[in-house]
Amino acid sequence: MNKKLFAFVVSTLISVQTFCQTNPTLDVQHYRFAIDLNDSNNIIKGEAQITIKFWQDINEIKLDLVQKRQDGKGMTVTNVKQNESDISFLQDSQHVIINTTAKTGEEQVYTIAYEGVPADGLIIDTNKFGHRTFFSDNWPNRAHNWLPCNDHVSDKASVEFIVTAPEHYQVVSNGVQIEETNFPNHLKLTHWKEDVPLPPKITVIGVADFAVNYAGSVDCIPVYSWVYPEDKDSGFYQYSIAKNILPWYIQHVGPYAYKKLANVQSKTIFGGMENANTIFYFEKSVGSTGLESLMAHEIAHQWFGNSASESDWPHIWLSEGFATYMTHLYHETKYGVDSFNKRMQTDRDTVISFSGKKNTPVVDTTSASNLMKLLNPNSYQKGGWVLHMLRRKLGDTLFWKAIRTYYATYAGTNASTEDLKKVFEDVSRQNLQAFFKQWLYTPGQPKLNIGWKYDAAKRSVTIKIEQMQNALFEFPLEIGFFNGNKTIVKSIAIKDKITIKEIALNIRPTRIIADPNVSLLFEEEISELR
Ligand SMILES: [Zn+2]
Repeated sequence: MNKKLFAFVVSTLISVQTFCQTNPTLDVQHYRFAIDLNDSNNIIKGEAQITIKFWQDINEIKLDLVQKRQDGKGMTVTNVKQNESDISFLQDSQHVIINTTAKTGEEQVYTIAYEGVPADGLIIDTNKFGHRTFFSDNWPNRAHNWLPCNDHVSDKASVEFIVTAPEHYQVVSNGVQIEETNFPNHLKLTHWKEDVPLPPKITVIGVADFAVNYAGSVDCIPVYSWVYPEDKDSGFYQYSIAKNILPWYIQHVGPYAYKKLANVQSKTIFGGMENANTIFYFEKSVGSTGLESLMAHEIAHQWFGNSASESDWPHIWLSEGFATYMTHLYHETKYGVDSFNKRMQTDRDTVISFSGKKNTPVVDTTSASNLMKLLNPNSYQKGGWVLHMLRRKLGDTLFWKAIRTYYATYAGTNASTEDLKKVFEDVSRQNLQAFFKQWLYTPGQPKLNIGWKYDAAKRSVTIKIEQMQNALFEFPLEIGFFNGNKTIVKSIAIKDKITIKEIALNIRPTRIIADPNVSLLFEEEISELR
């Protein structure tokens, strides 16, 4: 997702409670959600048919679902069936608990009938033109406000949505549309089916009055734009750039995992939300500058986050750091290295500023009480910078080989930071333990005091580099010596608190530049020693 609207998000959401995977004992195989929507009130009626495989013998099933609260929002379960028979159940504030037994290895189908006004997760609201719309917004674990599910990124399942709504609406969802039927009572049924297993965070429906455009195909993948009819002309034109972005990812990373790509104008609370093959963009994305970067970010997630997903929330940088850096790499190809360097420098400034406020590593296990806190520059910009430094360390050829190997290995499943490390170590045949430890598990980055002095008699410059931050880092530091018409670049290995190096140099430099090629995440103060 794109956190452009992060400040807004934080103030809007009361809190998003995390819980580690509630159900390591079970593995959802398939969800079939039938949802009825209407124009007179915000009550939704749902029937969830959930196919579950069991890893252990169980005496009950605990699925995530927000219960109806005092304010009247939340879901009330009215009936649960196993096969065709009613079975007993309970609800607590966050779960439906089904009274059933199953044996290890068994697969069972449960049907849960429920209704209520969604407290979150499905946004029912008028759009900027005053028309009623329904847009789901499930990240990170808000799906269970309106869908009974195992609401964790590590449990992926194929999914179908069968939406019955007043006939003036059009419905978009994951996968392919397999049915659309008008009923005599002015209702319409729309059925979408996704065969590729998805975590709940990227399952989605969008229900609104839409204008829909086929923008073209990329490698037989149709690309569509779904926008509000009032925004049709500029929306179709602007969103169609997606078909120019998609090929870059296919060429650089690997095959696209899904059967279509729809870009949808929506009421998502985020700038963009990467829902699998059905990306939602904020309402005012039509007409906004920066749409190409936003689309490049969300399209990157189709590989990183959606297909190869993080194993748990502390590894969210495997989604957001990747989407951030892939967007910069796309820019480098399209707009050149200067544009790329500027974007990396901006991100570096953001990381440094954030590290002054919050002393946490990228792999952050302390934000469990509010997952929205993970939408911070550590996950995005610093995660991106870690990939950039891996690229500089390994070189472009090995970097891309490792990226492609990582994707090929974890497409369709989940990976942790350690899984990524192992791929990069295998491909590069380097031990990356120290690199991962300092950049991903240690807060902050090097803060360097750099002093230099030229000795005309010896024709050399002496450089003194002192690490001012708490934990010492190990890295190569490039120094550029500029003498008016040319720059000589030398690399110095830094490991200790203080490094002093004498470098032969025929002419006195007028200026020295630390990290002239934008390769290191660090902050610096440079002074000439007298
Ligand atoms: Zn993102």
